[in-house]
Amino acid sequence: MSEKILVTRSSMPSFEEYCAEIRPLWDSRWLTNMGVKHDEFQERLRRFLGCPHVALFTNGHLALELFLSAMRFPRGAEIITTPFTFASTIHAIVRNGLVPVFADIRPDTYTLDPALVEPLVTPKTAAILPVHVYGHVCDVEAFDAIAGRHRLLVVYDAAHAFGVRYKGLSPAVLGDAAMFSFHATKVFHTIEGGALCFKHPGWVRPLDDMKNFGIRDEDTVAIPGGNAKMSEFQAAMGLCNLRHIDGEIAKRKSVVERYRRRLAGVPGLRLPPVQPRVESNYAYFPVLFDGPVSRDRMRSVLAGHGIFARKYFYPLATRYDCYASLPSAPTPVAERVAQSVLTLPLFADLAPGEVDRICDVILGEFARATS
Ligand SMILES: *Cc1c(COP(=O)(O)O)cnc(C)c1O
Repeated sequence: MSEKILVTRSSMPSFEEYCAEIRPLWDSRWLTNMGVKHDEFQERLRRFLGCPHVALFTNGHLALELFLSAMRFPRGAEIITTPFTFASTIHAIVRNGLVPVFADIRPDTYTLDPALVEPLVTPKTAAILPVHVYGHVCDVEAFDAIAGRHRLLVVYDAAHAFGVRYKGLSPAVLGDAAMFSFHATKVFHTIEGGALCFKHPGWVRPLDDMKNFGIRDEDTVAIPGGNAKMSEFQAAMGLCNLRHIDGEIAKRKSVVERYRRRLAGVPGLRLPPVQPRVESNYAYFPVLFDGPVSRDRMRSVLAGHGIFARKYFYPLATRYDCYASLPSAPTPVAERVAQSVLTLPLFADLAPGEVDRICDVILGEFARATS
């Protein structure tokens, strides 16, 4: 039997490169709490993203959860968002005592549909929280316009969008704030890690307080903050991986181009969109199975060949045990996509022969189903 192919595989610098990066920590013995590596990584990211302020966190989830906390929205305030996302997005809202209000997604990009957002705005609405799903860029101009008309914040879950450019800009500078995840499975990672990017200088201190117990100095504890600091070892991994990000994305691009060549033009197999004015990071390859072969059938056939694709995202947040009782408008597009989507294996080192093996299994199953 051929080698297993998992849906993702973390990129790593060479062992020697990482060792050289962490070597100074054996002299300084400064392992966390905004050390030299933390500060250097933060500055490199600021330049890479072209964003005035970047706050580093121990993971992307806490970056978003603590940002919402720092905004001090009234308890019970409403945040309009998408059910087609990772659990983290909605948990960050709910864990702050805020209320997620779900709107449906666009059928082409699977991102929050701005036309459905504005009718949901009430006097209790505090913010819009769209997700750049799979690195697809949201309708940022439309969300800015809605937010301007109703005086709302726009904060993006950009966990999938590191390395993307929209009209030459990083998603870091779109909206009022953007969260990136640097989890091991993302295009760019610090093992675990995340960042909150923003322009408003007044948010620097509240975010610093939030990630370090509210401790400002020896004598001052300003707020009941949490602990979400990025360690020196995480920052060192980030410094290494950032040196290779362009090459990683280029390798992913050639994998995606091979998938597109092999899988184009099959009825009942929908490939992801190519967005105008967007330079992709090729983070995921989500395919919709809405014809003769169902998603669940395809997934088990692939698994039978040692190929592990992922139902991502499934189930919808509105279907979680913990949120099923929340009131929500129907989201039929999101329901349909969650039932039919499979993200195929995609990582920088996925060999052309492996892509072919995956495509052969998929095309073979379509041939069987339609013969
Ligand atoms: C990965 C991810 C998160 C959470 O990030 P962590 O760094 O794992 O905490 C949030 N939202 C989305 C859409 C994600 O994919």
